Amino acid sequence: MEFFDLKKQYQSIKEEIDGAVLRTLENGVFIGGPEVAAFEKEAAVFLETAHAITLNSGTDALYLALKALDIGPGDEVLVPDFTFIATAETVAQCGAVPVFVDIDPVTFNIDPEDIEKKITSRTKAIIPVHLFGRAADMTAISKIAKDGNLYVIEDAAQAMGAKCGQKFCGTVGDIGCFSFFPTKNLGAYGDGGMLTTDNDDIAQKIKLLRAHGSSPTNKYLHLTLGVNSRLDAIQAAVLRVKLRHLNDCNDLRIGIAEKYNESLAGAGDMIFPGIGSGRECVFHQYTITTDRRDALQKFLKERQIPTMVYYSVPLHSQPAFEYLGIEAGSCPNAALISQKVISLPIYPEFSADEQEIALKTIKEFYGG
Ligand SMILES: *Cc1c(COP(=O)(O)O)cnc(C)c1O
Repeated sequence: MEFFDLKKQYQSIKEEIDGAVLRTLENGVFIGGPEVAAFEKEAAVFLETAHAITLNSGTDALYLALKALDIGPGDEVLVPDFTFIATAETVAQCGAVPVFVDIDPVTFNIDPEDIEKKITSRTKAIIPVHLFGRAADMTAISKIAKDGNLYVIEDAAQAMGAKCGQKFCGTVGDIGCFSFFPTKNLGAYGDGGMLTTDNDDIAQKIKLLRAHGSSPTNKYLHLTLGVNSRLDAIQAAVLRVKLRHLNDCNDLRIGIAEKYNESLAGAGDMIFPGIGSGRECVFHQYTITTDRRDALQKFLKERQIPTMVYYSVPLHSQPAFEYLGIEAGSCPNAALISQKVISLPIYPEFSADEQEIALKTIKEFYGG
């Protein structure tokens, strides 16, 4: 049993993928070009957003989002304390200060009440993360941002296809950031990322920034200082195929999550993923909490059931952020949750038989 099996996924759509990759090889355009343009169009239609701009990674999407909004030295950006490092790392790389906000203990997403406590006169933006495919509380966050004149950059790296109300995650705030890392809900066969926005000026800036600030009409006239962050044509061709299967794949994840919820109800002290009302989760991870996390993980490992701990160290305790001098007690929920979380296998091709074995073994651990 694998925690995630990319080979199974390839086998299930091999013909379509092979055709798309071969077509790209025949075309001979490997950076930008028709495949990238077509994917950007299709992704924008899928997400119901005006602009979808592909980049090299989800990390670049966050970094360039901050750059496009002129966030830099002297600015503070609010980020959840419990997320992948890229959410905060990119803030620091822009020269701004990441300010860690505690999480809601049910959804594990940024806590709007703590956002309000951590806003200062230097705060420029909030980066909610739709962690594990669960939408953050965008209603509350949008209101706080509007009242405080703050930008909202959504980190939707784990939430392609998830919804908050009528809108897709990543299309509620000023900018949405997506990752196509191979194991994400929409995964490429290498690195890839995307930024979405309804704002024409931001879109224009991102297109400049991703290609060395080159003028659209004269490649060697540089209007601003940018970076090299483009999506490969082969990745775009793969993503076009996979985008067509994304809804089905997300539905399969939801089915697996429901099965876990049903079968494990009453097993030990397990607490199931909290989704939040009016929000649709796409289960990038199926993450539960238990006081016996380490013992459960060891028990399952001995029986060849793979699990992962996302994330064992909250950002405020990361050595990389020691220079910020943050007090240990600044985000108590994140500190507590990071001791209790464990993610069980969930991916579209995870079979019912495999899940039965996992379920049986977990129940065995809890003695029932
Ligand atoms: C994966 C991920 C990123 C970074 O995406 P890359 O494509 O790996 O650079 C950022 N934020 C979160 C929450 C992620 O899960």
